[in-house]
Amino acid sequence: MINYNPVELILAKRNGTALNEDQIRNLVEGFLSGEVPDYQMSALLMAIYFQGLNKEEIFALTKTYIESGKTITFPAELKVADKHSTGGVGDKISLMLAPIAASLGLTIPMISGRGLGHTGGTLDKLESIPGFRTQFSIEEFRKLVLEHNCALAGQSKDLVPADQKIYALRDVTATVESPGLITASILSKKIAEGAKHLIIDLKIGSGAFMPDREKAKELAELLISTGERFGLTVKVAFTNMNSPLGLAVGNGLEMIEAIEYLKGNPLKDTKILTSELTAQLLVSTNLAETAEQAIAMIEEAVKNGKALKKLEEIIVAQGGNPKVIDDYGLLSTTKYKLPILSPASGYVSHIDCRAIGYALIHINAGRMKVTDSIDHSTGALLIPKIGDFLEKDEPIGEVHCNDQIKGEEVVKLIQKAYTLSSEPVAEEPIIFDIV
Ligand code: URA
Repeated sequence: MINYNPVELILAKRNGTALNEDQIRNLVEGFLSGEVPDYQMSALLMAIYFQGLNKEEIFALTKTYIESGKTITFPAELKVADKHSTGGVGDKISLMLAPIAASLGLTIPMISGRGLGHTGGTLDKLESIPGFRTQFSIEEFRKLVLEHNCALAGQSKDLVPADQKIYALRDVTATVESPGLITASILSKKIAEGAKHLIIDLKIGSGAFMPDREKAKELAELLISTGERFGLTVKVAFTNMNSPLGLAVGNGLEMIEAIEYLKGNPLKDTKILTSELTAQLLVSTNLAETAEQAIAMIEEAVKNGKALKKLEEIIVAQGGNPKVIDDYGLLSTTKYKLPILSPASGYVSHIDCRAIGYALIHINAGRMKVTDSIDHSTGALLIPKIGDFLEKDEPIGEVHCNDQIKGEEVVKLIQKAYTLSSEPVAEEPIIFDIV
């Protein structure tokens, strides 16, 4: 039963008046029950987009989201931690971070998302493993986490249903990029899944939705201060999304790259990111005293095979075929592997990562709409990073596809995504800062 006239609350927000917790709760609950229709919630979201939310409103919205569904709790002695990335191109860090952290004694209840638009999603990458299940009831998910220190799954419908319904509306009303709404959305899921420590990979650059460092800083401050009020320790890493991460972009191909990493063959950028982000969690939970000590523990877990064993254990527990670890043909086999040649000579000065992500949708490596199906085997291997020197016609990657004509189109679109300069260009840092 709603106790307020939604029009009056929309008007108040539109004119810059803050809403109180009761008003926010009433609107959200009314939207979930159907009493507040889509068009009123859309108008409210747009008012919030322009007027923002103050810290009390963000706290109230986060609390309302959490209380809209079930929550998971773990025994107090467990060190429950998670990671969230704001999304990028070739971002497969969770596939390494989760098994590494779990093999070192952290409890990781990782609720992940699917790829949309130019960004990939952890669930799609995992689903390239034949049989791998990502949908569980809250009870099944908790049991998996307790038995294996880790589970990676999609959001069940009982966990923060208010965020699920409002996020879907934000997605189609151009209201995703609001710091207050993002804060409540990300944190409510992590708090409801039982996490006490969180590292957020806040991506900045051509493949990220955050355009600049100023906006990213504002969001980081809200995430940290709001998390604190719920007993969640939040660390935020500002990281570079101006070059695709690692070598592979595409689901099965990224899974192969993650397995290679855990076999002891990491690439430079993914190694820096995976170890620094995992180290933050180890320090935050007191499993390590310093980041240096944590990094040594992480390297050892990869070297002695514990992290790879943990990945295998998770694959089996979630119904997947563990043979993928030695037989990559099960993850990605395509009819064609088309070479990508550098269109000119010069130093890479800009990579349009967003354009690369969108190009790959043509061969179904990603999706335009949530309901689109994807081909887990397709994608691209892309070698150049900002600052690299390329010779004209030098091979710079491959497109793996099942439709030659579309694949050739993707090769051209990817070539166009690289801007070359005759002047040397400095290599860019992988991590700008961690707060
Ligand atoms: N990711 C989320 O889960 N929610 C947002 O609002 C933005 C990114």
